[in-house]
Parts: sequence; structure tokens; C-alpha cells
Amino acid sequence: MKDIYEKKYNFFSLVSLNFKISPVFSFVLLVGNIIEGYLPIALTFSIGNFLDSVYKHETSTRDFLTFFLIVICIFLQFFCGLIFKIFDRKKSIEISKKCEYDGLMHMAMLDYPYIESGDNYQICLRVTKNMSEKCTASYQIFLQLLCLVLRVTGLLFVFLKYELWWIGIWFMFTLIPMCIISFACGKKRYDFYRENYSKEFIMHHQNYILKSRDAAEERNLFGYMTEVQNAWKCVRNEYYQKQIRLHKLTTVYLKIPYIISWVALSILIIILAEKAIIHALTIGMFIGIVGNLLDLNQMINIVFSGLSNRFAQVYRFLDDLNQFVDFLYFEEETDLPTDELLFESLEFKDVSFAYPDTKRKVLNHLSFKLEKGKSYAFVGENGSGKSTMIKLILGLYKNYEGTILLNNQDIRDIASAQLKGCIGVVFQDYAKYCISFKEALDIGALKYYKQQKVILENEKEVIKEMNLDDILNHLPNNLKSELGRINSIGCDLSGGEWQRVAIARMLMKKATLMILDEPTSSIDPKLEENIYRLFSIQDKNITSILISHRMGVTRMMDEVIVMEKGHVLEHGSPKELLEKQGGYYKMFTNQQRRFL
Ligand code: ADP
Repeated sequence: MKDIYEKKYNFFSLVSLNFKISPVFSFVLLVGNIIEGYLPIALTFSIGNFLDSVYKHETSTRDFLTFFLIVICIFLQFFCGLIFKIFDRKKSIEISKKCEYDGLMHMAMLDYPYIESGDNYQICLRVTKNMSEKCTASYQIFLQLLCLVLRVTGLLFVFLKYELWWIGIWFMFTLIPMCIISFACGKKRYDFYRENYSKEFIMHHQNYILKSRDAAEERNLFGYMTEVQNAWKCVRNEYYQKQIRLHKLTTVYLKIPYIISWVALSILIIILAEKAIIHALTIGMFIGIVGNLLDLNQMINIVFSGLSNRFAQVYRFLDDLNQFVDFLYFEEETDLPTDELLFESLEFKDVSFAYPDTKRKVLNHLSFKLEKGKSYAFVGENGSGKSTMIKLILGLYKNYEGTILLNNQDIRDIASAQLKGCIGVVFQDYAKYCISFKEALDIGALKYYKQQKVILENEKEVIKEMNLDDILNHLPNNLKSELGRINSIGCDLSGGEWQRVAIARMLMKKATLMILDEPTSSIDPKLEENIYRLFSIQDKNITSILISHRMGVTRMMDEVIVMEKGHVLEHGSPKELLEKQGGYYKMFTNQQRRFL
């Protein structure tokens, strides 16, 4: 079966999704609900006829059969309810498995800007969290509606038989306010959930500060617990107060149709009683119909009010879902490009860029050219746009002005697979994968392994280059050792060790353009110098970009580009820039002074 997030949905397609994911249980539930819908009318007639016979003292074998039928109907009603619960549970499990898996896959493949944008990311989380529940709910709503329609039409049939059709129509009208009010309440509930979803994020983050291992040291040291706990209480109180207000409001609103329907029902019973008194209706049928009506009214009040409420929530959820299915995947290269792209040159020509949903130009007419075989250092104050520039080189954002040329070809025209094959990168916030040491090295180049491009020797070489032997010697199972602290066998690494693993992961790929976005902040100076030496060596096939605040290491690079407010302030060799005594010189001497 295809990914369930590949098409647009309406209420009925969401209902039919139940059949696609869990056909057997969905079918059984459908048949069961049809039976359940017809049972009350069968009961009405059976009870009516049986009571009439008893009342007239004219009982016969047929009446015993009727009595037997009544018992069977009551048993079936009970039995159906029980079986449905079990089947419904099994169906829900099948649906959540499918929705959870497809949701994970869909999110993992989403193009980077969707995950970066706060609003879109929240849509992704809301949809993947609620999909199975709303899919199941849509089917339950459908079945309950079906059951209700069958019951009401059955009852209308009785009213028609006794020429009381107008009572039936009147009864139907009392349902209208119920539908409208409970639908409005349902919409209000989902809107509340949608509007306050960011609060859930804040609460989640506060939990992280108060509970997580990562923050444990600082928690003990800084003693901020009282402040965070107060903030925690504040957010929660506000959230729950709003929730209680909403609950009160919707409960009060839902009482209005409840009262209307009971008044209508009372009047109806009085009219039916009058009919029974003048013998326009037998006493047995009177009792049967009243029983059915009371039961139906109860069902309408309990089930139906919840039904339109849930329908409204599903209806609102569909907005989120249809936006989510419109989000684009990144280009997933299932095969490696036949033509390997080797880095020759990179040129930014008057590039300007603002992040989606923002106005400020983070890159402002940025222009520079990098050539093969050289090492470049990008320096500049925080926020000057260095990391953003890297994101554009990697093709993570495409909505920029100006042109970026890789090997004189517009980067937007280069296949994503070729681009990714050509560039190796370590980000400032690199991921710490809690998997085996070997997997943590291989994970950046798995596709290349398949083609035997990266061979085992490379692993040995990289381990040596990054001094990983040191770490491996202390681990219980060498390369097979589990990293991280997600279970008892995992071995945690220090910040610098994690960074070395991240850089090693990049080196495994043997890219021709290597980018390091400040990944060595926790690495000891000696090893750091070795790493940069590695990047600055005159390998004519490798070009490297280093973003760093450590001015000492930037001197080892061939050229330095100083960025300020999204454009280039200075560009030249470290020697030239120091002689020029401009921005680079200032940064350099400021830092030097601190160490003297
Ligand atoms: P640098 O790497 O030079 O420190 P960045 O490129 O990381 O600077 O950031 C440049 C500016 O862009 C910063 O002011 C930052 O706030 C903003 N920025 C970074 N990422 C995003 C984002 N995802 N959405 C909106 N603004 C962002």
C-alpha cells in the first residue's frame, strides 16, 4: 500500500482509508452497525405485539416465538456492543501502526524549509500525532451516523404506519440545534488545540530543563529550579484555565439542545398517550415506541452531541492534513549519479536571501569565488550569515535572489544526488547518533558503500587521522560499541569526542568540497590544529571551507573571507588582510591580546 500521505483528503476519503488499512475489521464493524441500526425497530414491533397479546389474554405459540425474538434482539444488542469494542480496538492498532510509520517516513523526507519553519513544523507534528486517532474517529462517526439513520428511518416507518408522520418530522427538527451547536463546539475545541499547540511545546521544553540528563549538571549548578518551576506553573495554569473555560462553555452550550430534545420528547409522549387512550395506537405499540424513543433520545444526546463535536474536529484536522500532504519531499536520490561531480569552483553572484516568513535579508548582495585545491576561512560576527551561506551551498534553500554557480553551472540545476556526493559537511549543531561506533562513522556515506566507493581502508585512515584509536581503546567492543546513553550498554563520549566522530563521518565520504562550520569548539588545541592542517594541506583535489572564530587557525588557510551583515567585507590571504589592518586584523589582534 502506498504512503497514506500522498493524496488530499476529505471526510469520506478518510473514512475509506480505514477500509484500505484494515479491510476485515472495517467490514465486520460495518455489518455489525447495520444490524445494530435495525435491531431497535425489530424490538419495537416485537415488544408491541407481545404486550398486546398479553394485554388481551390471547397469547399463542407465535407470541412465545416473539418473546424469544425479543430475548435474541436484546442479547444481540449486548453482544454487538462487546464485539465491536474488541474489533474497533484491533482496527485502531492496525491504523496507528500504518499512520505512525508513514508519518515518520513522510516527515523524515520533507524538504528542509518545512522543518525549519515554525508554523509548518507544528502542522507536521499535529498531523502525525493525530492522524490515526482522526482516521479511526472518522470511521466511528460514519458508523454511528449510519446506525442513527437506520434507527430514525425505522422509527419514521412506525410513525407512517400509524399516520403519525408529522411527529416524526417534528422530532427530526429537534435534532437540528443539536447538530449546529455540537458542531460549533467541536470546531472550537480543535481551534483551541491548534492555537495553543505552541504552549505544549513550551511545556515540553520546561520538562526538558527540569528532567533531562543533558541539563542535569547546569540544573544542579545554577539553581534555577524555582524560577523554571514558577514559569512551568504559570504556563500550565494559563493553559489549563483556558481549557476549563472552554470545557465549561461547550458543556453549557451542549445542554441547550439536550433540554430542547427532552421537552420535544415529553410532548411527543403525551401525544402518543392520547392516541393510545382513543385506541388509535395499541397499548403494546405505545410502550414499544416510547421505549424506542427514550432510547433514541438518550443515544442522540450522548452519542450524537459527541458525534458532531468529533466531526467538527476531524473537519478542522483535514485542513492541517491537506496542508501537510502538500509539503514537498527533498529530492531523494535512490541511485547514485552516474557522473560523479568533482569540485572545480564555487561562485556566489550577488546573492540575497531572507528566511521564509521573514523580511530581513540575512545575505545581502553576497559575492565571492572559491577555486579548487584551496582552503578558505569564513570569519565574521555572530549572525553575519556564514551558516546561512552554507545552507544555500547545500541546496537546502532555493528561494534566494542572485546566482550560485558550482563548476560554472547554476546550483539549482544540479541534481541533488550529485551535489550531496560532491560536498561533505559538519555542522555546528551536528547530530549525535546513539548507534554503534562503526554505524556512526558510516551513516553519512551509506549510499556510497553500496557502490563500494568508500572502502575499508578509508575507515582505518580516518580513524587514524581523527585520533579515534584513543577513544576506541577505551570502549568495550571497539567499533561495535554502542554510543550514547539511551540504554545501559551505551558509552557516552565527551563533547570533543563526539565532534571528532562527526568530522570522521564527513571524511568517510571523500567529498571534494569539505565544509566545517565551527565543529571543533570542544576539541583540544593540539588535535584541532592537526585537523585544520588536514584541511589546509595542498591537496589539489580537495577544497575546504572553514567557519571559525579562532583567528589563530584561520591563518593556516589560503584565503580568508570576512563577512559582515550578509556580505563580504574583506577577501584575501591572511597575510594580505593582516597587512591591510582592516576588519580581520582587528579580530585577530583582539583575540591575540587576550592570550598575551
Ligand atoms: P552566523 O553563522 O554568521 O552566526 P547565521 O547564518 O547562522 O549566522 O544567521 C544569520 C541570521 O539569520 C541570524 O540573525 C539568525 O537569527 C537568522 N536565522 C538563522 N536561521 C534562521 C531561521 N531558520 N529562520 C529565521 N532566521 C534565521
